Amino acid sequence: MSTDLTKDRVLEMLQKVKGPDQDDDIVSLGLVSPIVINKGKVYFAISVEPGRAKELEPMREAAEEIVGRIDGVDSVAVTLTADRDAGEASAPDAGAGGGGSCSTGGGGAGAGAPGSGGTGGQIPMPNIGSIIAVASGKGGVGKSTTAINLALSFQANGLRTGILDADIYGPSIPRLLGLQGQNPEAAENDKIKPMKAFGMEVMSIGFLVDEDAPMIWRGPMVMSALTQMLQFVTWGELDVLVVDMPPGTGDAQLTMSQAVPLAGAVIVSTPQDLALIDARKGLNMFKQVKVPVLGIVENMSYFNCPSCGERSDIFGHGGAKREAERIKVPFLGEIPLHMDIREKSDSGQPVVVSDPDGPHAKIYSEIAEKAWTNAEAHKAKREGKKTKITMES
Ligand code: ADP
Repeated sequence: MSTDLTKDRVLEMLQKVKGPDQDDDIVSLGLVSPIVINKGKVYFAISVEPGRAKELEPMREAAEEIVGRIDGVDSVAVTLTADRDAGEASAPDAGAGGGGSCSTGGGGAGAGAPGSGGTGGQIPMPNIGSIIAVASGKGGVGKSTTAINLALSFQANGLRTGILDADIYGPSIPRLLGLQGQNPEAAENDKIKPMKAFGMEVMSIGFLVDEDAPMIWRGPMVMSALTQMLQFVTWGELDVLVVDMPPGTGDAQLTMSQAVPLAGAVIVSTPQDLALIDARKGLNMFKQVKVPVLGIVENMSYFNCPSCGERSDIFGHGGAKREAERIKVPFLGEIPLHMDIREKSDSGQPVVVSDPDGPHAKIYSEIAEKAWTNAEAHKAKREGKKTKITMES
């Protein structure tokens, strides 16, 4: 018997875990998603009926524990996903493919990502047209500020918009939208209603935990926090859900990129070289999981002196644009470093809503338009591909 860490070995161990009704094992029941192994870390999902996730937590723990016994495993992240019953509405537009049970084993990183056409254990989000991640290689580059203003620009352009703050290390969306200290209401079946701000639906891990509480999240806890915010929130019918990702390119980001059918990612970078190196890591991560990069935004790109109006490129403007051209990723635009952007975001009145006719709202709106156009183009390409696959089979 092989003791190496392989997908087959993981499946072999999982055959010892009984399914929800104790009749057969989870592998034979076809409940296990493709297994992803990345440097000693193992990720997979188990499909369960909607509403049974809480009751089946011991099954999830058993799967995690048994896979953790394999030599060479450093960590295991297992999530329960609620696939819809056969015969329900078709898959979300974001490219999730059918919502039926997941196939077993065989999938590598990115199996089931939108570009590859299968669910691969992803959480189905049937109400949501497109899910767009806003990511950065490191913290402090203005990712959350950009995410908020992009979301508000989508909303201003007539798209029904939601924002999910998945930045579990520093959830700032409640503060940026002036919602701190408020709590979301409970909905039926242990679910949570999203909050509302400026007409958008909003959910943040910051509503569920104290912003100042130390958050020492272990990998699996990150996974379940993210999963819960996606699965147990009663999102309405939305054209677009903007996800403010945790900064960096570690497990939490990889998990998030694989957990939901992302339509694409927007990468935020400052012009400095260091930030660009980090941004490149972000690009590679999305490439690895086959999520299209909709483009790069250069934030704090230049500085317009408020008193003399003179422009200065304090961070060496243009680095992100050059990098985008070099690696053939769309460049979405430049956002200046401006006191208004900082003050308005930090006081819960983002510039797109507090100064909708001003120059900054225009910049965000143009960036949002390009990102949306690119997301729609990728969607059309995917759907074209899907049609072809359907016709051939
Ligand atoms: P991240 O999400 O990358 O950690 P934030 O969006 O929280 O970064 O931004 C960090 C700080 O920088 C905040 O105080 C924010 O108001 C400020 N900031 C972000 N973008 C700009 C900008 N273009 N001009 C001025 N301040 C900005």
